[in-house]
Amino acid sequence: MSDCIFCKIAAKEIPAKIVYEDDCIVAFHDIQPVAPTHVLVIPKEHIPSMEQATEHHKELIGHIHLSIRNIAEQLGIHEDGYRIVNNCGEQGGQTVYHLHFHLLGGRQMQWPPG
Ligand code: 5GP
Repeated sequence: MSDCIFCKIAAKEIPAKIVYEDDCIVAFHDIQPVAPTHVLVIPKEHIPSMEQATEHHKELIGHIHLSIRNIAEQLGIHEDGYRIVNNCGEQGGQTVYHLHFHLLGGRQMQWPPG
């Protein structure tokens, strides 16, 4: 989508600190980190949110989650633990409407989230 900021990051039209990329997904550091490690993992395909994900995306979403595990290892946070977050829709706290998963680590997480 031409006006989507994450599509532009995936297309390298705007810069981002990319930590992993393959044919289907891109992972990059969040511009406003809320943890010592805060990476966003997105599909290259424009899917607005989990609400629009379908059976067709099953493999892609599985691939994102297994890649997050590998990225956590790559960034050295896998042993202490980390959190994977998807904010979906307005009450879920979503602000960018291109599906993304937050990988958060490097500090003790709290529960329940705000
Ligand atoms: P959401 O609130 O939709 O779950 O998460 C959106 C995230 O995208 C936020 O954590 C925000 O800091 C991050 N973000 C928004 N714009 C940009 C950008 O241009 N570059 C990067 N790297 N992160 C962004």
